[in-house]
Amino acid sequence: MPESAEEFYRRALAAADADGRLPLPPLDEWDTFPFEGEFRVRPLQAPAEEKPREGEGGVDCGRCATGDEDALWSDQHWLVAPLPRPSGLPVVVLLYPKAHVDLHELPPARQAELGPLIVRVERAVAGIEGIARVHVGRWGEGSEHLHVWFMARPARMTQLRSSFAAIWDDILPPVPEDVWRESNAAIGRALAAGGGRAHV
Ligand SMILES: [Zn+2]
Repeated sequence: MPESAEEFYRRALAAADADGRLPLPPLDEWDTFPFEGEFRVRPLQAPAEEKPREGEGGVDCGRCATGDEDALWSDQHWLVAPLPRPSGLPVVVLLYPKAHVDLHELPPARQAELGPLIVRVERAVAGIEGIARVHVGRWGEGSEHLHVWFMARPARMTQLRSSFAAIWDDILPPVPEDVWRESNAAIGRALAAGGGRAHV
């Protein structure tokens, strides 16, 4: 039987110090960790009520309200949009179903489209000059409306490898607006070559 949240918490807490702080992992061995200096782990918080996500039940959903207004590309059921403004990584785009559903609620026809679409978006982003890798992620903690992240890691910037790239995206200065627009437009065009239409 899986652990309850209380059991999970108590077991973890037993490994923590008197303040509820767990030992630090070997940060000095993680060359992609963006920070240095003295660190300590935050005290582990006790189980709490789940917080409602943005757009819960389709009410006041930002994505549903925006529709494909900010899209780089869309087809009948899906769209790809960038963040509202440039961030640190050269390209960050998100794939959304047009309908307000979470991953587990996708109807079978959309499920069958999702795999090929992830590959299409990955290829479109990787097709931008100077991109070595595209990180693909789905967390679903902020907004209920399904969104899959695509984060481009610049070639030869090997310190930005792996999962800390999402933190480096907040640390690095934003990409110049014109470069960002050009890359986003290229992604829209690349996707439209396989069906649907570019909005840029
Ligand atoms: Zn929605």
